[in-house]
Amino acid sequence: MSNDLTITNVRPMAGGLATISIVAGRIVAIGTGSNAPESETIDGGGAIALPGLVEAHTHLDKTLWGMGWHKHQAGPRLIDKIDNERAQKKSLGIDPARQSARQIVLSLSKGTTHIRSHVDVDTEVGLSGIEGVIATRERYRDAIDVEIVAFPQSGMLVRPGTAELMDRALAMGAEAVGGLDPCAIDRDPKGHVDRVFALAQKYGRPVDIHLHEPGEMGAFSMELIIERTVALGMQGQVTISHAFCLGSPDRDLVDPLIDALATANIAIMTTGPASRPAPPVRRLVERGIVVCSGSDGIRDTWGPYGSADMLERAMFIGLRNNLRHDAEVEMALDVCTHGGARVMGLKDYGLAPGCAADLVLADGESLTEAVVSHTPRRLVVKRGRVVARDGRVLVGAP
Ligand SMILES: [Zn+2]
Repeated sequence: MSNDLTITNVRPMAGGLATISIVAGRIVAIGTGSNAPESETIDGGGAIALPGLVEAHTHLDKTLWGMGWHKHQAGPRLIDKIDNERAQKKSLGIDPARQSARQIVLSLSKGTTHIRSHVDVDTEVGLSGIEGVIATRERYRDAIDVEIVAFPQSGMLVRPGTAELMDRALAMGAEAVGGLDPCAIDRDPKGHVDRVFALAQKYGRPVDIHLHEPGEMGAFSMELIIERTVALGMQGQVTISHAFCLGSPDRDLVDPLIDALATANIAIMTTGPASRPAPPVRRLVERGIVVCSGSDGIRDTWGPYGSADMLERAMFIGLRNNLRHDAEVEMALDVCTHGGARVMGLKDYGLAPGCAADLVLADGESLTEAVVSHTPRRLVVKRGRVVARDGRVLVGAP
C-alpha cells in the first residue's frame, strides 16, 4: 500500500488554509502547492489539522470495552480495586489480546496515533497481559504505535515472584519499567524504588511509576524517585503518573518538589482527575516540566468512565486546572500531543516537514473550540495511511 497522500484545504494548528504533502509516510511539505501530484488527494474541507493525539497513560490489557455493561461494586480503597480486579479478570474472562485490540480501535477513531500502556504483571496473570498486548501491537503495527510499560499492579515486593516476572516482561519486549505506590502498596519504599531502578538500569529502559500516595507520604516517595533519578543519571527518562501529592494545597510541601522535579527533568502524567487532588498543570509547564496525559483505565473494573478521546481529555485538564484563556486551553492540548510525544521519546513527531505523517483532522474555528467540542474526527492518518474517517475505523476490530 502506498503511503503517499496529499491533503488539501486544511488549517494546520487552526492557522491559514494549506496543503499537506506526504511521501512515503512522511510530511514533505506544508504549503499552498502539492509536491506529490501523483498521490491520492483528500479534501480536508477546511478542518483543523493536528499532529496525532498521544494517549500517554492507559491500561490496554484490562478494559471491559465490548463486554457488556459491568456493574461496579468494588470497595472504596485502592487495594479494594486491585484485589477486585485480580479476581474479576478470571471470572469475567478478560482476554488481554482481544480487549487491547478493542481499545486500540476505539482510540484510532478518536485520532490517537501513539499509546503508552501500562500492562499488569503479577503472580496470578503472570505474563499473559504482556503477551496479549504484544500480539495486538503486532496486529495493528501499521495503524498505531504502542509502547508497553511492565506494571506491577498488585505490588512487587509484597508478592514474591513479581520482580522476576517484571524482569522477564522487559526481556520479552516491554519498553519501560513501571512501579506503584512504594509506601502504600509495597510497604517498603526504598526496596520498591531500588528494584524499579535496578530493572531500568539492567535493560536501559525508562521508568514510569504510578504514585497515588497523597500529601506527605507521596512527597516522601517522590523524593526517593528524584534521588535515584539523579544518582543514576536518568534525567529525562522518568515519569511519575498521577502524582496526587502535587495537588496538596501546602505550598511549602509542593514548591520544593516542583523545583526538584524540574532539576531532575522528571515528567508528570495527569489525567486531570475530577475526584482527586491533581498536579497544577500550568505551574508545572511554566517551570519547564514535561506534562503528558492519558485516559488511564477505560471502562474497566475500576470504574465506568472513559472514552479514549484525548481532545476530551484536554478539556478535562482545562476544567480541572481552571484553564479559560485560549492560550491556556492550547497548553492542555499540547500536553495531549507534544507532551506525550516527549515522554515517549518520539523523535519524528509533529506537524512539520520531515515528521512522520501521523495526523488528525478536527472541526473547530480555533484549537480551543476543537478541544471543547471534540466532535467526531474527520480523518486520522498514520504514516501517510488513512486509518479512520468520520469517526469510523478502517482497520479491523475483533
Ligand atoms: Zn494507571
